[in-house]
Formats: sequence, structure tokens, C-alpha cells
Amino acid sequence: MPHSHAVILLILIILSAISGVLFGWFFGELSLQIGWMGDLFLNALKMIIIPLIVASVISGIGALGDVRKLGRLGGSTILYYGFTTAVAVFIGLVVVNIIQPGAGIELGNATVPERILEKQGTGVSDIFMSLISPNLFASATEMQLLPIIVFAILFAMALTTIGDRSKPVFAVFDGINEAMMKLVIWVMYFAPLGIFALIAARIGLAGGGDELFKEIQAVGWHVVTVLTGLFIHFCFLLLLLQLIAGKGFSYLLGMSRALFTGFGTASSTATLPLTMENARENKVSDKAIKFVLPLGSTVNMDGTALYEAAAVLFIAQAYGIDLTMTQQVIVFITATLAAIGAAGIPEAGLVTMVIVLSAVGLPLDGIALLLAVDWFLDRFRTVVNIWGDSVGAKVIDTLVIKKAL
Ligand code: ASP
Repeated sequence: MPHSHAVILLILIILSAISGVLFGWFFGELSLQIGWMGDLFLNALKMIIIPLIVASVISGIGALGDVRKLGRLGGSTILYYGFTTAVAVFIGLVVVNIIQPGAGIELGNATVPERILEKQGTGVSDIFMSLISPNLFASATEMQLLPIIVFAILFAMALTTIGDRSKPVFAVFDGINEAMMKLVIWVMYFAPLGIFALIAARIGLAGGGDELFKEIQAVGWHVVTVLTGLFIHFCFLLLLLQLIAGKGFSYLLGMSRALFTGFGTASSTATLPLTMENARENKVSDKAIKFVLPLGSTVNMDGTALYEAAAVLFIAQAYGIDLTMTQQVIVFITATLAAIGAAGIPEAGLVTMVIVLSAVGLPLDGIALLLAVDWFLDRFRTVVNIWGDSVGAKVIDTLVIKKAL
């Protein structure tokens, strides 16, 4: 996309996000009438994801050309993502221990929805099970990206071992990837309208500004805790980027369209096509875009990890249960794993939280305390998830790809 278009689009997106908030705030339920425009935009993004991810991962690995290079890139990417997710959980735990948002909270009588209760009994082993799908088409229809990426990586690795016969196959996937990226640019022009409608309709669903304000107020310190933690982690990543790649704010500005889209859609997966296009405009290398970003969008969820740790401790505090140091270490480990297992879709973090709660024996009913504001906090943690992936792509690009591959 030409630079001038990109700048105008960013300005329009910022204005549309602000007007979406105002529209939803003042018009309340009436805003639901325009929700379809947001859904249309969301569907267009979702339509692109599966072919884009498959083609980009395969063509990215084709460009590396050698399984040893993939090993080095894959290893450093997973190490980097693991490290930043652990930092996020740590920040979440520190902030919630300092602010103590759950102290004195009324337990209330909200019930936990069925979609969460049916996850009871989900454990860490399920995260490993989700890596391999017995039916890729079923995974594709359910938008489970992780097993699809694992398959694409294995398939591309196998291709690299068959010599010249792999060339036409890689060429096909290169072509599909380029065409999908073109589609992304076309869809991007509708982002302002889509983001406006998505935000307005969601605030409308909450009953407008006054209702939203009341809901936030009821668990105000929890909201403050999560937002503070997310902000600190966001800045930590910015600093890391500045130190490693020498550019912080300019990259942040450059990635803003993807970040605002994440805020509007509450889905890092749906935003992935735009994140990839944005990263390309910001001169991140193709190898990082095609491999590091899709992998990150499924396994690297810094915002979600931070949220899960902070929310579980909030629940413990609300129930008056003191978690020991060992239990907090268990929260640390399971929150990291639960975030890896969470899908990049709206409010997925709330569902995988079941794993963390069960690991330290806390009541699932505690989730009811979070329900009213989860969708609101979800938007912010999605932004941090996308920012985490974007910084990851730039850092790996600088440290690994430009130097050694
Ligand atoms: N909505 C988040 C995302 O898409 C996941 C979550 O934390 O619920 O990245």
C-alpha cells in the first residue's frame, strides 16, 4: 500500500475507533443496528486467514531452503516468545500482589456460562494434544490454527528434502501468498468502517456508556490492575525493541493500524493478515513475516498470559484464599501454558483460565466475577498480544535472520 494511503488510513482508523466509542456510548442499543458492518469486515479477514497462513508458512520455509536454518529460526523464535510470555506473567503477578484488587470484593450471584463449564477437566496435556489434528479440514472450519501451522511446517520440511521436485510446489504457494496479501490490502481499506461498527455495537450490547461505566466500577481495581500490567508490558516490549532493533516509536506508529484493528476485533487471529501487511510495510523481512508472525499469533499471547495470572489471583483474593509461594509458581507456569493454548479469538483467555484455576484448586465460579468486564479488557490484551508478535518479528529479524540466515 502506498505510504500516503497508509497514513490517511491510520488517521481514519483512529477517528473511527474514537467515534465508535462515542456512538456506542451515547446511542446504546441502537448501535447494534450497525453491527453487521463490523461483522462483514471481520468475516472478510477470517476468509483470508487459512489460505494465507498455509501459503505463507510453506513459502517462508521454502525461502529458508534448509531444515537446519529452520531449526535455528524456529528455536530462537520459541525461546524468545517463551521469555516474553514469562515476563508478562511475572508483571501480572507483581501488579496484582501490590494492588490487591480482590480484597473486599462482593462475590455476587452471576453464573458461569456453559461454554466455560464444559471446559472443566481441561489440563495441560490438552494443550499438547491440540498441536496435532486428526482432521485438518475440521480444524480449518473451527479456525484452530495451531495444528494447521504444525502441518504446514512439517509439509514444507518434507518438501525441502525432495530436491528439484519441490520447486513448482513452493512456487504455487509463493503465488498464493502474494495473492492473499493483495486481498489483505483491499480489505484494509474497509477497516475504518469495520472498526467503527465493531466498537459501537459492542458498547451498545453492554447497554451504552452508563452501563459500561457501572460494570467497570464494580470491579474497578481489577480493571486498573490489568490495564496497569498490560501497559507496563507494552512499554517493556517497546524498550526491548529500541535496544535490539534501534527503533521503538517509529515501529509502534508503523504497526498502529494492526493494533487498532486488534482493539476493534478483539481477535489477534482475525487481525493477523493486517499485522503481516503492516509488518511488510515496516520493512520486516519476508522470512520473519511468513514464519514468526503466524507462529506468534497462535502461541505468543503476552496480554492473555498476564491477564490470566492477574485474574486468577484476583479471584483468590476475592474468595479470601491466600495462595502460597508454591501455588503462585504453579499459576506462573500454568498461565504461560494456558496462554499458549488460547486461540486468538474474542474472550478465549477466559476459557483457558479454567486450567489455571483448577491447577491451584480455586473455584471455577470465580470466573463469574470477571464476566461483565472481560470483553472490555479483552480488547486491551489483544492489542498487547499483537504488539508482542510484531515486536517478536522485528527482534528475530534483527538478531537471527539478518545476521545468520
Ligand atoms: N482475544 C485475545 C486474542 O485474540 C485472546 C484472549 O485473551 O481472549 O488475542
